[in-house]
Parts: sequence; C-alpha cells; structure tokens
Amino acid sequence: MPVDLHTHSSISDGSETPSTVVALAAEAGLGAIALTDHDSLAGVSEARAVGMELGVEVVSGVELSVDWGDRQVHVLAYFVEPEEPGPLQQRLGFLRRGRAERNAAIIRALSEQGISITAEDVAAEAVGAESVGRPHIAAALVRLGEVSTVAEAFARYLARGRPAYRPRPRLDLEEAAALTWSEGGVPVVAHPHTVGVSAAEYDAAFRGLVDAGIGGFECFYAEYTPEVRQRLAELATSLGVVATGGSDFHGSYKPEIEVGVGRGDLLVPDRCLEDLELARRT
Ligand code: AMP
Ligand code: ZN
Ligand code: FE
Ligand code: FE
Repeated sequence: MPVDLHTHSSISDGSETPSTVVALAAEAGLGAIALTDHDSLAGVSEARAVGMELGVEVVSGVELSVDWGDRQVHVLAYFVEPEEPGPLQQRLGFLRRGRAERNAAIIRALSEQGISITAEDVAAEAVGAESVGRPHIAAALVRLGEVSTVAEAFARYLARGRPAYRPRPRLDLEEAAALTWSEGGVPVVAHPHTVGVSAAEYDAAFRGLVDAGIGGFECFYAEYTPEVRQRLAELATSLGVVATGGSDFHGSYKPEIEVGVGRGDLLVPDRCLEDLELARRT
C-alpha cells in the first residue's frame, strides 16, 4: 500500500485534526503516514490511536525550518519519538517560544501598517495548535477582510521581504541533522526545490547536504512532475541516501493538495518508508 510521509494537522498549520488526517489516509488506501507538524510532535499520539483503529501506521515526524549557510531549508525529522524526548525535542520548546515572540512582532508590524489585528484574532484561527505561525495570521487577515486569500496575505505582508515579515530563531541544518540522528531519527530535506538552486547545481547541492548530515530527500513530492520525481530519486540513491515522498497536506490552507495523492497523481511507494527505517543509526 502507498504511504504519505509529509502531512500537517491542526497542531500546526493544517486545518484538520490529527484524527481526521489519519481518517483521510485510510480513505485514500494508504498503509502509513508520517505526521510532520512544524516544531511539534503533539499530534502523534492522537494520530496513532486512530491509526490503530483504521489500520494506518503513523510515523512520528516534525518539520523544522533551518539555516544552511545563507539558505533556508525545511528538514523533516523522522522517528523522533514523543514518548522518548531526546536532544532534538529539547530544542522544540525554544523554537516554539521564538514563534510566539515573532508572531507578536508581526502583529505589531501589521498595526503599524494600519491594520487592526490582535493576538486574539490569530488565536481564533489556531484553536488546538501548539505551533502557531504565519498561515494562522494570514487566515485571520482573510477573516478580518484585509485580504481575500492566504496567498494574498503572504504576498502583501507576510512573505520574506514584505513589510510585516519578521524572522524567528532557527537551528542550523548541521545541528538539526546531528540532533535528529542522535535521537534515533533520520533527517530528510523536504521539497528540495525550495533550497533554491538551479537544475545544474542540484547534484552539488545534494552532495553538500549529505555532507552536512542529511539522510534523505523528499523526491516524490506532490508539486513535481513524474520526471522530476524520478530524477531526484536517482540522485538520492546515487548518493547513498533515502528517497522519500509526501503530499505536504495542509487541508484548507492548501486546498488543492489531498492526503496521499497530492494533486491527484502522487504515489509514494511503501519502499520509501522501509528504506527510511533501514537508515536509522540506532
Ligand atoms: P512559518 O512557519 O510561521 O514561518 O510559516 C511558514 C508556512 O507558511 C510554510 O510552511 C507554508 O505552509 C506557508 N507559506 C509560506 N509562504 C507562503 C506563501 N507565499 N503563500 C502561502 N503560504 C505560505
Ligand atoms: Zn506548513
Ligand atoms: Fe515545508
Ligand atoms: Fe510541510
């Protein structure tokens, strides 16, 4: 049965609860999913309880935004077990506190732009979330009628380079990768196109990321053509690391993406999860 190794729930910036994400995976005929909320593992136990009932294996995961030199990379840390908090999980609290401070700074910046938005407006969009971020602020701006869509909120105010953008503390990629391995996990680069290198630079960039401690790349990504998925998987394999895949499901925050199938044509083979398990250094 196929799998989906990249999903978000209402614990971070997905619209659906962990239970619903697993139910959608069961409906899609998946054998396993990884729940990979940003900076939080709080949804894993609920997802696992539902997964036991519905016959869907739930892999624990967390997505981290990290610095790699002057680039920003998203790392999916797999097999970081909430029942056994290790050195990576000890850093998640620091990252979430950084989010809280950053969100307050963004709200102040929006006020300076003449928009009356409060922390309560944002909290109303983040019910049940342990990890609150810009998508929740964007949703609040839509609800307040300041913009029409979440995408417009980013384009006008929240994206890097826009007036209400504010940075937040991040781990370095090397640190995130080392902490993930030391906690029995495997660090994987999510949606590698966002590393921001040209096609000609991919080989060198992947090699540099492996040298920095990365154990896999998300090759079977919803937004890629079959040719790109294949090429990335061959590159990962040639470097001796794992080719993984996922939809990056966010529910209504990314309405065109469905669990498992992405835009309709995604299929992540269960071999990806088997290879990921074999890569653990425990
Ligand atoms: P944060 O973690 O709070 O910095 O927010 C980052 C999240 O915002 C990403 O994981 C995306 O889901 C979402 N995001 C980033 N840029 C955009 C954009 N231009 N339009 C819509 N969503 C975005
Ligand atoms: Zn997200
Ligand atoms: Fe991401
Ligand atoms: Fe994601």
